[in-house]
Formats: sequence, structure tokens, C-alpha cells
Amino acid sequence: MRLVTFRQQNRTAPGLLLEGGRVLDLSDCLPGKGKLTSLIDIVRAGEEGEAGLRQAAKGAGAKLDLKDIRLIAPIPWPRKNVFCVGRNYVEHVAVGFRARGTEMKLPEYAQFFTKPPTAIIGPDTDIPLDAEVTEKLDYEVELGVVIGKRGRNIPRETALAHVFGYTVINDVTARDLQRRHEQWFKGKSLDGTCPMGPYLVHRSAIADPQSLDLSLRVNGERRQSSNTKHMIFDLRTIIASLSEGLTLEPGDVIATGTPSGVGFAMDPPRFLKDGDVVEAEVEGIGILRNTVRHILHRVDVG
Ligand code: MG
Repeated sequence: MRLVTFRQQNRTAPGLLLEGGRVLDLSDCLPGKGKLTSLIDIVRAGEEGEAGLRQAAKGAGAKLDLKDIRLIAPIPWPRKNVFCVGRNYVEHVAVGFRARGTEMKLPEYAQFFTKPPTAIIGPDTDIPLDAEVTEKLDYEVELGVVIGKRGRNIPRETALAHVFGYTVINDVTARDLQRRHEQWFKGKSLDGTCPMGPYLVHRSAIADPQSLDLSLRVNGERRQSSNTKHMIFDLRTIIASLSEGLTLEPGDVIATGTPSGVGFAMDPPRFLKDGDVVEAEVEGIGILRNTVRHILHRVDVG
């Protein structure tokens, strides 16, 4: 079940991708809830949302042509920041230490940081590059997890039952800001640096989220290629650990870390530049494509 959030003229709505590339409009799939405006409405409706989806998938509702709509991020405006895991693939950690010339040490516990909702953009949307803010913009393909069931102190054993579905996230990072401010938040949080999508795939369609190939290409050149089985902290551990004393809610998004191949660790380093086409792909989910575009530096206080 490949789910989308789309824009058509002046409205946004959730949808279900059908065979043949058409999209079933899900804006009326929860009777009594009014017009739904994104997938978050369905995810937050819990069991009722899942039942509404199953009913809608039988085919009732308007079918739209992909060329008449524009896909946006499946979870375009989460209520809180996107949770992220740093240093979660062994080889990525190793090259990071090599690039800094220091001895490698694997983390004992997952390293969490966040990206604000203002960083989120959808597929086929430009990643803004303001050369006066950063000269070292980098990419990171990641498996994204969307929480479907509320929980705190979630046991590892039942953690995956709290997942609604999976998406692709590109954790675009300003390496100079990440380094300069010493704490990761600022360098990870510029506007447009959390491309997400194009689909949110329901968990029922992913047999084993811990064995998915993931890769990233820049202008067609493969830079990252790995598999989610190489995570240091697997999805169960991430959910259990993050939810210790911290309530996870339906619609929360977790980016689960990136494998090796990022630009800053190349020799010489290669950062994103104007016109670069970045394609992040996770097996069974889809390809998230964005183009880097130089923008003028200006004060924006309106
Ligand atoms: Mg990352």
C-alpha cells in the first residue's frame, strides 16, 4: 500500500497510489471526520484510520491522474521535529573518523538529534542552497519510520507494532554549520533540508524493514549503497531507546541513519552544488528525487 499526500489546485489531500500510476483520492475515507488534508489525519486516527484505508482500497473514491496532481511530503507538517539517529552504520562511522584522522569508536547508545518541520520538503522540490549560509551541503539517504501507535517505554519485542509505515528521507546536512556549532541541530535544520517521500508505504507491504537496500545517486553517479541490515542500532532498538520516558505519538517521524558514501568523507570532499540532481532510494519504497538550487541570500521577515 503506497500512500501519498498530494496538492491539487488549492487543496491538499491524502491518496493511495494505484496500479497504472493513478491516485485514489482518500480525502473522504474517514466518514464523520470531514475532508482529510494529509496522511497525518489517517495515521492519527489509529485503528479507525487503518480500517478506513482498507475500505477505501477496495476502490471507491475519485481516481486522479498523477500528471494532474503534485506529490508533497507524505507527512508534510508533523506536530514535532523529525527525530534522527546519527552514526548508525558501521562503515559510515569508520569513514567519518578516518576523515577526521581520529581513532574509531562505535557508539554505545543511539545518538539522537532532530530536524524542524520547516526543513521538510516533498519529492521533485528544490533543495535550496544559500552560499552565504553554507558552502558544504551534503546528502544522507535514510529509511524513514512513521509512528502509528502511541507509546512510552515501548519494549523492543513489540516495537515494530508501533510503526505505521516507511518512507525515504534525505537528511541533507550543512557540514560547516554542523562543525562550527559543535551540536548537530543547526547544521541539520536549514529550510528544505529534509526531503521526504515520495511514498509512505504501509508496514504490511514491507516484509522485513531490516533487510532493505538503500542507495543515493548524484547526477546519476552512485555515492551511497548499503542495506538496512547494517544498522548499528536496529529499528526495534531505536524505538525502544527513543521512547524511554518520551512518548512517541502517531505521525512522529524517525530518520534512522545513513550508510557510508557521504560527500564530506570523500577524498577530496565533494559537496552539493547548484543543479545537482539527488536521488535517494530505498528498496520497496521508491526514489526520492530533488534538485539543488542556488538561492539569493535575503532577509525574510514577512
Ligand atoms: Mg543522518
